[in-house]
Amino acid sequence: MRHLAIVGSGPAGYYTAEAALKQWGDGVKVDIFDLSPVPFGLIRTGVAPDHQSIKSVSHRYETTALNPNVRFVGNVMVGRDITIAELQDLYDAVVLATGAPNDRKLGLPGENLANVFGSAAFVGWYNGHPDFAGIGPDFAHETAVIVGNGNVALDVARILAKSGAEFEGSDIVSHALEALEASRVRRIVILGRRGPHQVTMTPKELGELAKLSRACPSVDPADLPPLTEDAALDPGMRKTMGHLRGFAIGGGTANDNEGPACPGRDVRIEFDFFAAPRAILGTDQVEGIEVERTRLVEGKAVGTGETYRIPAGIVVACIGYQTSRIPDVPYDEQGGRFANTEGRIAPGLYCVGWARRGPTGTIGTNRPDGFAIVEKIDADIGEGSGKAGRPGFDALAAQRGIDYVKFTEWQKIEEAEAANARQGAPREKFVAVDQMIAEAHPSAGT
Ligand code: NAP
Repeated sequence: MRHLAIVGSGPAGYYTAEAALKQWGDGVKVDIFDLSPVPFGLIRTGVAPDHQSIKSVSHRYETTALNPNVRFVGNVMVGRDITIAELQDLYDAVVLATGAPNDRKLGLPGENLANVFGSAAFVGWYNGHPDFAGIGPDFAHETAVIVGNGNVALDVARILAKSGAEFEGSDIVSHALEALEASRVRRIVILGRRGPHQVTMTPKELGELAKLSRACPSVDPADLPPLTEDAALDPGMRKTMGHLRGFAIGGGTANDNEGPACPGRDVRIEFDFFAAPRAILGTDQVEGIEVERTRLVEGKAVGTGETYRIPAGIVVACIGYQTSRIPDVPYDEQGGRFANTEGRIAPGLYCVGWARRGPTGTIGTNRPDGFAIVEKIDADIGEGSGKAGRPGFDALAAQRGIDYVKFTEWQKIEEAEAANARQGAPREKFVAVDQMIAEAHPSAGT
């Protein structure tokens, strides 16, 4: 029997468990640990609340979760409740699938002013992540600035631009819906330090901006490369450019272009390319951002010396993420992830997903990643070496009073969230860990 511990219950964790079942069938017992009492990581707290179809991938993870050879061990922090060395003593292989939950820093003056957020915090706020539910963004100013040209920047712009009615059917948490409905933001500036050909936005996500009821996306035609240069791009990037070129002629794509003025749409989304942030301005709360014009030199953004200021009341930096450190696990500072060679960290210790490769790729990218790591583990551990596995962990948990949350207990939380949902919404998430625990372990407090 092989005993596998997976740390992290997001896509990378569940795809690894799925691969383990496929590889070893009844010859493996998998324990999936999570710091949170609820599973699925970024599916719950990262994927935008108005992208319910993407979230439905969790049904696939559920099939894996309900297999008797797999169990969820929620509300356990590896590195605090149990050390990596202890896990390694109990399990033949420990796979870190902990994602990249921390914001990369801009490293600019003024970054710590009030109402400047990283995307992990801001996205966590509207998705009800317990760590960020209380950040209380202020939308009293007309202008919001988003830094970054990836899909997270698009998520944030779309959420800021939507009317309350456009959240119907989403699971945006009520505190965020109420704040956004009262928002005075009408101008959203998306800063890209490089140009349109360098964006990492994908066409479907970009196209969504043109379909919003009150948003008018715009691109300065002067920022666009000559049309002939699009021919060298891959098909996805050519589609992306189609949208950006559509925005340059007037707030929409060929199908739903309403003309340069976007009649009836009062929220402007301005793409400001070749624009690198240099300082966040303000005394207590952000009042603006200083930007330097750039030009591309060998693919890199180089400042031109020309600067300008954009008055703004909120700044969200969507510039990527870093993996959390775990005591005694080697860390790659530059990459913001665990130091590893193709997923191997040390004998018996592995990593997958964003914890292995950094914050890139779609949810589906994690599937081959999970299968690849299981092949390596198979080669390394053979049939297992008689470690204690599950019963060993349970003995330690009992001794330490670790009150973990099982998958069936998560299902009770899920039922309660569905019962609390607004009309038309799939759920109203609990945003505090103690509320979740109270649902999972109702008798604990009595
Ligand atoms: P990303 O695609 O890597 O984009 C990060 C952006 O930040 C880039 O435009 C980068 O510019 C910019 N940036 C980095 N450091 C900066 C700095 N100091 N100043 C100014 N700009 C800076 O990352 P992401 O948007 O966080 O997305 C993470 C992953 O999740 C991606 O793989 C994404 O596709 C995925 N995702 C997918 C969806 C979806 O499919 N619907 C939704 C959300 C996220 P440079 O290129 O110049 O470095």
